[in-house]
Amino acid sequence: MSGTNRRIDGVRLWDTLMAMAAIGATPKGGVKRLTLTEVDREGRDRFAGWCREAGLTVRVDAMGNMFARRPGRDPSRPPVLLGSHLDSQPTGGKFDGALGVIAGLEVMRTLRDLGIETEAPVELVNWTDEEGSRFGHSLMGSGVWAGVYEEGATLALRDADGVSVLEAMEGIGYRGDAPARPFPADSYFELHIEQGPVLEREGKRIGVVTGGQAQVWYDAVLTGQDAHAGTTPPSARRDALVGAARVIALVDELMRERGEDGRGTVGRLQVLPNSCNVVPGEVRFSVEFRHPSEAEIEALAAGFPARARAIAEGAGLALTLRELFRIPAQPFDPGCVALVREAAARLGLPSRDIVSGAGHDAVYVARQVPTAMIFTPCKDGLSHNEAESILPEEAADGCQVLFEAVLARANRPA
Ligand SMILES: [Zn+2]
Repeated sequence: MSGTNRRIDGVRLWDTLMAMAAIGATPKGGVKRLTLTEVDREGRDRFAGWCREAGLTVRVDAMGNMFARRPGRDPSRPPVLLGSHLDSQPTGGKFDGALGVIAGLEVMRTLRDLGIETEAPVELVNWTDEEGSRFGHSLMGSGVWAGVYEEGATLALRDADGVSVLEAMEGIGYRGDAPARPFPADSYFELHIEQGPVLEREGKRIGVVTGGQAQVWYDAVLTGQDAHAGTTPPSARRDALVGAARVIALVDELMRERGEDGRGTVGRLQVLPNSCNVVPGEVRFSVEFRHPSEAEIEALAAGFPARARAIAEGAGLALTLRELFRIPAQPFDPGCVALVREAAARLGLPSRDIVSGAGHDAVYVARQVPTAMIFTPCKDGLSHNEAESILPEEAADGCQVLFEAVLARANRPA
């Protein structure tokens, strides 16, 4: 069965995206819709209204996750889920998260307009607090739902003003009755902007996301000795910043040894005492590595600490290296991924397989439910930025692929 004669409405999709972007719009053309704020409430209320107009039944769970259900012909079948998140960074863009939710709404509207009755029910999800910028904890709603985070501890987290997640959620009226834990679901599909430059650079319209990459994160402290910059000769120096520079170069080298799939970053550096005429006695910094292959991350975790320690010793420094966490690679479901790949091919859209470099709700949902993601290009790979930009045709093509994949899955033989 070809879906190519059944089209989503790209103009309606774009208009609805722009209507959502008006909620929390910033002067520079971005969006500030921080999780569980009054602006978030406004976005959620508008979204719920659109869902009800589309004939969907909305329920909210104990983490504020919203589920909008369209019944299937066979009520005993578990639903096909699709969605993303409506919260944004403080200086976020119009499309990060919103694209997946609003495209999901467009899928529901198209099913209604075309009078399509699917075999399995279909449920559209808005996950709470994907961004983590208010309570310092990203992927919160999907993480609790998937059993990665504990609900009580998560509800007790506080923002910079001392407001807890629970207080904020109750304050905007989005603490629901449904338990925030997995229910039987057939599959989960999430459309998202790539937030990177690969698709645009290669002229691809669709990224077929095969999974999330493995990660290992460290906190590092190099200790030497503060000393007078004018009186301390080379032989007497224990310069922690020189040591840090060599470790940073090692991180970059280990990344580049792994080709275009490697990631290695030192993004935070604190120099003490940070005075222009004092040899730095202490440097604190972060280290993180990411790679699609778990074996590569295991190899880095086995090899990096000893090499960093050797660098420290060579410079007369002490190194404290604390591994913060290791996240395994999360491959997506081959069957769901194939539906995305086939839909792109059937529609004649140039596509490529791609690994998700960023964290996404789908990566946690995939621990419980067969999952796939669809990426669309974004201008200059820019995201978490008010200048984040995509073309209406890119949004429409991504939405059409989402529609085809969801429909195929919801109608597959039981
Ligand atoms: Zn996002």
